[in-house]
Amino acid sequence: MHCHIDLYPHPHAIVKECSRQGMFVLSVTTTPKAWEGTKALEVGSKNIFTALGFHPQLVHEREAEMQLFERFFDSTRYIGEIGLDGSKEFRKYIAVQSKIFKYILCMAREDGRKVLSIHSRDSTDLVLNELDGREGISILHWFSGTKAQLAEAVEKGCWFSVGPGQLRTNKGKELFRLMPRNRVLTETDGPFVEMGDRSILPWDIKDCILDICQVWKCSEQEAVMQVLNNLHKLQSNFSLK
Ligand code: MN
Repeated sequence: MHCHIDLYPHPHAIVKECSRQGMFVLSVTTTPKAWEGTKALEVGSKNIFTALGFHPQLVHEREAEMQLFERFFDSTRYIGEIGLDGSKEFRKYIAVQSKIFKYILCMAREDGRKVLSIHSRDSTDLVLNELDGREGISILHWFSGTKAQLAEAVEKGCWFSVGPGQLRTNKGKELFRLMPRNRVLTETDGPFVEMGDRSILPWDIKDCILDICQVWKCSEQEAVMQVLNNLHKLQSNFSLK
Protein backbone atom coordinates (compact mmCIF):
# COMPACT_ATOMS: atom_id res chain seq x y z
CA MET A 1 0.00 0.00 0.00
CA HIS A 2 2.92 2.36 -0.02
CA CYS A 3 5.95 1.96 -2.24
CA HIS A 4 7.95 4.65 -4.03
CA ILE A 5 8.56 2.68 -7.22
CA ASP A 6 9.64 5.84 -9.04
CA LEU A 7 12.52 6.37 -6.62
CA TYR A 8 14.30 3.08 -7.35
CA PRO A 9 17.20 3.33 -9.81
CA HIS A 10 15.46 0.90 -12.22
CA PRO A 11 11.71 1.39 -11.78
CA HIS A 12 10.76 -0.45 -14.99
CA ALA A 13 12.49 -3.61 -13.76
CA ILE A 14 10.62 -3.33 -10.44
CA VAL A 15 7.28 -2.99 -12.23
CA LYS A 16 8.07 -5.98 -14.46
CA GLU A 17 8.89 -8.24 -11.51
CA CYS A 18 5.82 -7.08 -9.53
CA SER A 19 3.63 -7.90 -12.53
CA ARG A 20 5.29 -11.30 -12.96
CA GLN A 21 4.53 -12.08 -9.32
CA GLY A 22 0.98 -10.70 -9.62
CA MET A 23 1.56 -8.29 -6.79
CA PHE A 24 -0.73 -5.40 -5.92
CA VAL A 25 1.34 -2.27 -5.41
CA LEU A 26 0.20 1.22 -4.53
CA SER A 27 2.86 3.31 -6.20
CA VAL A 28 2.90 6.55 -4.23
CA THR A 29 4.44 9.80 -5.41
CA THR A 30 6.01 12.64 -3.45
CA THR A 31 5.35 15.59 -5.78
CA PRO A 32 2.59 16.46 -8.26
CA LYS A 33 5.35 16.92 -10.85
CA ALA A 34 6.21 13.22 -10.52
CA TRP A 35 2.64 12.13 -11.26
CA GLU A 36 2.75 11.76 -15.05
CA GLY A 37 6.09 9.93 -15.18
CA THR A 38 5.14 7.59 -12.35
CA LYS A 39 1.66 6.96 -13.73
CA ALA A 40 3.31 5.91 -17.01
CA LEU A 41 5.15 3.12 -15.15
CA GLU A 42 1.88 1.27 -14.41
CA VAL A 43 0.98 0.91 -18.11
CA GLY A 44 0.57 -2.76 -19.00
CA SER A 45 0.34 -3.95 -15.41
CA LYS A 46 -3.00 -4.91 -13.92
CA ASN A 47 -2.23 -4.52 -10.25
CA ILE A 48 -0.10 -1.43 -9.95
CA PHE A 49 -2.02 1.68 -9.00
CA THR A 50 -0.49 5.13 -8.89
CA ALA A 51 -1.30 7.61 -6.15
CA LEU A 52 -1.10 11.38 -6.54
CA GLY A 53 0.97 12.77 -3.70
CA PHE A 54 2.54 15.81 -2.13
CA HIS A 55 4.98 14.79 0.61
CA PRO A 56 4.95 16.98 3.74
CA GLN A 57 8.75 17.21 3.68
CA LEU A 58 8.64 18.80 0.23
CA VAL A 59 5.61 21.11 0.21
CA HIS A 60 7.43 24.18 1.59
CA GLU A 61 9.65 24.47 -1.48
CA ARG A 62 7.02 23.49 -4.06
CA GLU A 63 3.76 25.13 -3.05
CA ALA A 64 3.14 26.23 -6.64
CA GLU A 65 2.77 22.59 -7.65
CA MET A 66 -0.63 22.59 -5.96
CA GLN A 67 -1.97 23.68 -9.37
CA LEU A 68 -0.72 20.42 -10.86
CA PHE A 69 -2.18 18.52 -7.92
CA GLU A 70 -5.60 19.99 -8.71
CA ARG A 71 -5.22 19.23 -12.39
CA PHE A 72 -4.48 15.53 -11.81
CA PHE A 73 -6.81 15.02 -8.85
CA ASP A 74 -9.64 13.38 -10.79
CA SER A 75 -7.29 10.98 -12.61
CA THR A 76 -6.97 8.61 -9.67
CA ARG A 77 -8.83 7.25 -6.68
CA TYR A 78 -5.55 7.03 -4.75
CA ILE A 79 -3.96 10.00 -2.99
CA GLY A 80 -0.55 9.77 -1.32
CA GLU A 81 1.90 10.35 0.03
CA ILE A 82 0.38 13.28 1.87
CA GLY A 83 0.31 14.29 5.53
CA LEU A 84 2.31 16.20 8.09
CA ASP A 85 5.86 15.88 9.43
CA GLY A 86 6.61 17.37 12.84
CA SER A 87 10.17 16.05 13.12
CA LYS A 88 12.97 18.43 14.07
CA GLU A 89 14.02 19.21 10.53
CA PHE A 90 10.55 19.93 9.14
CA ARG A 91 8.65 21.33 12.13
CA LYS A 92 9.48 24.86 11.01
CA TYR A 93 7.38 24.37 7.88
CA ILE A 94 4.34 23.02 9.72
CA ALA A 95 2.16 26.02 8.78
CA VAL A 96 2.55 25.49 5.04
CA GLN A 97 2.32 21.72 5.49
CA SER A 98 -0.99 22.15 7.33
CA LYS A 99 -2.34 24.51 4.73
CA ILE A 100 -1.66 22.06 1.90
CA PHE A 101 -2.83 19.02 3.87
CA LYS A 102 -6.11 20.71 4.85
CA TYR A 103 -6.70 21.77 1.28
CA ILE A 104 -6.13 18.26 -0.05
CA LEU A 105 -8.48 16.82 2.59
CA CYS A 106 -11.15 19.33 1.52
CA MET A 107 -10.79 18.17 -2.06
CA ALA A 108 -11.04 14.55 -0.92
CA ARG A 109 -14.22 15.29 1.04
CA GLU A 110 -15.81 16.82 -2.02
CA ASP A 111 -14.93 13.72 -4.01
CA GLY A 112 -15.87 11.29 -1.24
CA ARG A 113 -14.31 8.16 -2.78
CA LYS A 114 -10.58 8.62 -2.35
CA VAL A 115 -8.13 6.30 -0.62
CA LEU A 116 -5.41 8.27 1.14
CA SER A 117 -1.95 7.14 2.22
CA ILE A 118 -0.97 9.44 5.08
CA HIS A 119 2.39 10.27 6.70
CA SER A 120 2.11 11.37 10.35
CA ARG A 121 5.65 11.31 11.71
CA ASP A 122 5.87 13.29 14.96
CA SER A 123 2.53 14.86 14.11
CA THR A 124 -0.06 12.22 15.00
CA ASP A 125 -2.32 14.57 16.99
CA LEU A 126 -2.22 17.23 14.29
CA VAL A 127 -3.06 14.69 11.59
CA LEU A 128 -5.88 13.11 13.60
CA ASN A 129 -7.34 16.54 14.32
CA GLU A 130 -7.71 17.12 10.59
CA LEU A 131 -9.49 13.85 9.84
CA ASP A 132 -13.24 13.57 10.27
CA GLY A 133 -13.96 10.38 8.35
CA ARG A 134 -15.53 12.11 5.33
CA GLU A 135 -12.26 12.19 3.37
CA GLY A 136 -12.71 8.65 2.11
CA ILE A 137 -10.47 5.91 3.46
CA SER A 138 -7.51 7.29 5.36
CA ILE A 139 -4.67 4.83 5.68
CA LEU A 140 -2.08 5.86 8.23
CA HIS A 141 1.21 4.65 6.83
CA TRP A 142 3.89 3.47 9.30
CA PHE A 143 1.87 4.64 12.31
CA SER A 144 4.25 5.59 15.11
CA GLY A 145 2.06 7.35 17.67
CA THR A 146 1.06 6.25 21.15
CA LYS A 147 -1.52 3.61 22.09
CA ALA A 148 -3.99 6.36 23.02
CA GLN A 149 -3.49 8.00 19.62
CA LEU A 150 -3.96 4.63 17.95
CA ALA A 151 -7.27 4.20 19.76
CA GLU A 152 -8.35 7.62 18.53
CA ALA A 153 -7.32 6.77 14.95
CA VAL A 154 -9.33 3.54 15.15
CA GLU A 155 -12.30 5.47 16.50
CA LYS A 156 -12.04 7.84 13.53
CA GLY A 157 -12.21 4.92 11.10
CA CYS A 158 -8.59 5.01 9.95
CA TRP A 159 -6.90 2.07 8.30
CA PHE A 160 -3.21 1.23 8.72
CA SER A 161 -0.43 0.04 6.46
CA VAL A 162 2.40 -1.74 8.22
CA GLY A 163 5.75 -2.94 6.95
CA PRO A 164 8.94 -4.74 7.84
CA GLY A 165 10.52 -1.45 8.97
CA GLN A 166 7.80 -0.95 11.57
CA LEU A 167 7.43 -4.57 12.65
CA ARG A 168 11.14 -4.83 13.41
CA THR A 169 10.68 -2.93 16.66
CA ASN A 170 8.79 -4.04 19.77
CA LYS A 171 6.85 -0.79 19.86
CA GLY A 172 5.84 -1.25 16.22
CA LYS A 173 4.73 -4.82 16.92
CA GLU A 174 2.71 -3.78 19.96
CA LEU A 175 0.90 -1.04 18.02
CA PHE A 176 0.23 -3.50 15.23
CA ARG A 177 -1.26 -5.97 17.72
CA LEU A 178 -3.78 -3.32 18.75
CA MET A 179 -4.90 -2.46 15.21
CA PRO A 180 -8.23 -3.94 14.02
CA ARG A 181 -7.35 -6.90 11.82
CA ASN A 182 -9.88 -5.89 9.20
CA ARG A 183 -8.23 -2.50 8.68
CA VAL A 184 -4.62 -3.55 8.17
CA LEU A 185 -2.69 -3.63 4.90
CA THR A 186 0.97 -4.25 4.17
CA GLU A 187 3.54 -1.85 2.77
CA THR A 188 7.27 -1.70 2.19
CA ASP A 189 7.85 2.08 1.96
CA GLY A 190 10.63 1.06 -0.43
CA PRO A 191 13.24 2.11 -1.20
CA PHE A 192 13.41 3.87 2.21
CA VAL A 193 13.81 0.72 4.30
CA GLU A 194 16.95 -1.40 4.35
CA MET A 195 17.11 -5.17 4.16
CA GLY A 196 20.65 -6.07 5.16
CA ASP A 197 22.91 -4.15 2.77
CA ARG A 198 20.26 -3.25 0.18
CA SER A 199 16.99 -1.38 -0.18
CA ILE A 200 13.81 -3.26 0.47
CA LEU A 201 11.98 -4.50 -2.66
CA PRO A 202 8.21 -4.87 -3.05
CA TRP A 203 8.34 -8.68 -2.91
CA ASP A 204 10.18 -8.55 0.44
CA ILE A 205 6.69 -8.01 1.85
CA LYS A 206 6.65 -11.78 2.40
CA ASP A 207 8.87 -11.19 5.45
CA CYS A 208 6.19 -8.95 6.84
CA ILE A 209 3.62 -11.73 6.65
CA LEU A 210 5.79 -13.83 8.99
CA ASP A 211 5.84 -11.01 11.55
CA ILE A 212 2.08 -10.64 11.21
CA CYS A 213 1.60 -14.38 11.91
CA GLN A 214 3.71 -14.07 15.03
CA VAL A 215 1.66 -11.18 16.39
CA TRP A 216 -1.75 -12.53 15.35
CA LYS A 217 -0.77 -16.07 16.37
CA CYS A 218 -2.17 -17.44 13.14
CA SER A 219 -0.99 -19.39 10.11
CA GLU A 220 0.65 -17.79 7.11
CA GLN A 221 -2.39 -18.63 5.02
CA GLU A 222 -4.77 -16.96 7.48
CA ALA A 223 -2.63 -13.82 7.57
CA VAL A 224 -2.48 -13.62 3.78
CA MET A 225 -6.23 -14.19 3.48
CA GLN A 226 -7.02 -11.46 6.00
CA VAL A 227 -4.80 -8.90 4.27
CA LEU A 228 -6.17 -9.83 0.83
CA ASN A 229 -9.74 -9.58 2.08
CA ASN A 230 -8.97 -6.14 3.45
CA LEU A 231 -7.51 -5.12 0.10
CA HIS A 232 -10.58 -6.34 -1.76
CA LYS A 233 -12.83 -4.47 0.62
CA LEU A 234 -10.82 -1.32 0.02
CA GLN A 235 -11.02 -1.68 -3.74
CA SER A 236 -14.66 -2.60 -3.92
CA ASN A 237 -17.30 0.03 -4.47
CA PHE A 238 -18.78 -0.08 -1.02
CA SER A 239 -20.28 3.24 -0.20
CA LEU A 240 -18.15 5.62 1.76
CA LYS A 241 -19.94 7.79 4.23
MN1 MN B 1 6.94 6.92 1.99
